[in-house]
Amino acid sequence: MTLCYMNGKYAPISECHLPVTDMAIQRGAAVFEAIRIYDGKLFGMEMHLERFARSAEGAGIAAGNILPRLPEIFKAGVKMEGCPAEGLVRPYITGGDINNKGSFPEPRFFVLFGGINKTPEEERRRGAVLEPNRMERPFPLCKSINYLLALIPLGGGDKVNHESLYMPAGEITEAMTNNFFLCKDGKIITAPAGRVLDGVTRSVVLTLARENGFTIEERCPREDELPQADEAFITGTVNEILSVARVGNITIGSGLPGPVAAHLYRLFLSNIGRWLS
Ligand SMILES: *Cc1c(COP(=O)(O)O)cnc(C)c1O
Repeated sequence: MTLCYMNGKYAPISECHLPVTDMAIQRGAAVFEAIRIYDGKLFGMEMHLERFARSAEGAGIAAGNILPRLPEIFKAGVKMEGCPAEGLVRPYITGGDINNKGSFPEPRFFVLFGGINKTPEEERRRGAVLEPNRMERPFPLCKSINYLLALIPLGGGDKVNHESLYMPAGEITEAMTNNFFLCKDGKIITAPAGRVLDGVTRSVVLTLARENGFTIEERCPREDELPQADEAFITGTVNEILSVARVGNITIGSGLPGPVAAHLYRLFLSNIGRWLS
């Protein structure tokens, strides 16, 4: 079951509705977060809340009255019966009914508490396949609800592709819901925050990598570096750290999950407690 906090109360999601006049529906004006629940606690909550505030501001949504209430709402929600001990908290702030030429003074918000579709073991063993996407993701620091630019290139159907990878003009930025990392010449290369969303998992992984002596280069990996790369992986709240086996027709390294991603994933799992609250 998924629980929803809306209009001052927690209720089954089937009882929660957004008016069709909301600018989320009319104009795609809404921002959100997906926060992992591990063992009934929230992972990286402060980083998520900071990013949420910035996303709302970037989208012109006046969230000042909503944001301070969220920690309490999250903490009470994860303790409720119906909220799984391993899952996701997903708060949304929508544009509401008023659009003042791109500013949204009366937003709505709701918070979903539910389970998670974990990465299948099979995909962890084989590595993910990413579909090249020639678009540039606009407003990179804003986590908006609009994923059409990443979904349309995926093409639907029963392809094995995990998600699409933004690679405009030969530069690799990020995947649909994950940041992207390339391992080459003993370095870990990833696009700088600002050019891409500053993923919470990305920043945890960079911290752990630095603490453990890995060399990091913050720049966009280039498409023409893919064939010579040793390995690649993606990071995100749902997938945590997931190896990439292939990008389009290009096989990465041996085509199997590599040792850097495996090492970082072990470090991630054993350090989760540092970011729980
Ligand atoms: C959510 C998301 C990420 C990953 O961020 P996390 O905080 O690690 O989950 C990366 N890129 C995009 C476009 C996203 O929407």
